[in-house]
Amino acid sequence: MTTDRADLVLTDVDLLAAPGDLREGVDVVITGGRIAAVEPAPSAAREAATERLDGRGLLAMPGLVDAHTHSAENCMRGLGDGLPLEPWLATLMDRGGLYSPEDHYWCALASAAEILLAGGTSVIDHLVMTPISADGFDGAMRAYRDAGIRGGVAPLVSDHDATVGLANDLGIDTADLRALMPQQVPTMDTAEMLARTADAIDRWHGAEDGRLHLLAGASGAQWASEELLGGMAELARARGTTMQLHLVETRVQAAACRLRFGKSGAAALDDLGVLWDGVSLAHCVWIDPDDIGLIADRGATVVHNPAANQRLRSGRAPIAALLAAGAHVGLGTDGAASGDDQNTWIAMRLAALIHRDPDEPWVSADDALRIATVGGARALGVPGLGTLEPGAPADLALLDRRAVGLAGARELEAALVWSESGAGVRHVVVAGEVVVRDGRLTRIDLDAINEAMAEQAARRLAAPASGQLEATVARLTEVRRRLAERDGRPFFGP
Ligand SMILES: [Zn+2]
Repeated sequence: MTTDRADLVLTDVDLLAAPGDLREGVDVVITGGRIAAVEPAPSAAREAATERLDGRGLLAMPGLVDAHTHSAENCMRGLGDGLPLEPWLATLMDRGGLYSPEDHYWCALASAAEILLAGGTSVIDHLVMTPISADGFDGAMRAYRDAGIRGGVAPLVSDHDATVGLANDLGIDTADLRALMPQQVPTMDTAEMLARTADAIDRWHGAEDGRLHLLAGASGAQWASEELLGGMAELARARGTTMQLHLVETRVQAAACRLRFGKSGAAALDDLGVLWDGVSLAHCVWIDPDDIGLIADRGATVVHNPAANQRLRSGRAPIAALLAAGAHVGLGTDGAASGDDQNTWIAMRLAALIHRDPDEPWVSADDALRIATVGGARALGVPGLGTLEPGAPADLALLDRRAVGLAGARELEAALVWSESGAGVRHVVVAGEVVVRDGRLTRIDLDAINEAMAEQAARRLAAPASGQLEATVARLTEVRRRLAERDGRPFFGP
């Protein structure tokens, strides 16, 4: 029972609070953006509630968490099919060009819209800015504010490139290139990057009653100085927020870290104070076996991005081994130019699907459901997020149990992962507010978003090339070829 007047009651709904915990025909009482109670029978709060949502025939479950994406890629979809990450990324940076604050706004709105419509309720946008600026942060944050999603932005900033050291170590000269991995950020003092991030945290973190997050961040262990990595972690802890960065997505990155630090990227991050329970590490495809226990011990969250890792031929992260070691694992779509969508439901299916070879530990449907909800929620550092226990944020997806994905379901949890695609999502609630009703966004205009993406895609396609892309891609391909040769592996070019 709850004494406060409820803001919203979901009536007569079947609630899947967690895998194996189905409560049929309950009332879910929501007050102040949080789950106030789950009542097994029609609740007293029902009549006095500000709003009632008829849950008959619907399944309510924790909203999915997209714990890693890059919203700027929404207008670059389908880019570079078949390219591995390094040449793909060089192409993305070269062809993507500059983003105005308004461009960031619409790209972030596009991520929010697609995530919400497929039953997602939270997103972490690892944001590339050109350059890092107050206006850039504000563009994306305004979008997440307006969309009603639980949104976090982490700056993707870089002030170092260990790929150059690796190339030189493999006997490849890079002196004629402006940059080997084109840096996302024009030359800027590291201290200035930290100061701009601190300013953005102060202005945005915790806004909208805690629905908005501003995280610390860096591009990746091989693309950031020790000063930037350690400084961002310190900043996050001092301001009470979390941090996100990439870690060893490819063999090239793992080799660059090993050469630079004389140890694995994860071990180097630990030395710098970056491996703690407030950090999320995107990918971790090429972590060392010893890193698994280290990451679990430090309480860091690994964000699995199965679609992008397969699309860019990066490999598969050791997700089953991480789960067995007790590590926290979340799920990401990654950007829409490598993912190539923002549908967290499909990412959830891939997370279970790609770890099923006969000679390896495997990821179950229940694991995938947990990864996609409570696992990724840790990256935002909100207590209770991803669960539906009393006191937890009221972030839910409500699905039609008679729609295509679930109508023939024999085992509910498995059917959610294997048969549903997000198409059966009827309503979505974030912080107690209905932001998708009957399959339509309540706060933002999908047609206007799609118009903006089409305009940005056409504008970027028409922009002149830098002239260095071909030489850069050739050099990066040579890095991959020589690394494979050094390791005695076969090489398959782009
Ligand atoms: Zn990423």
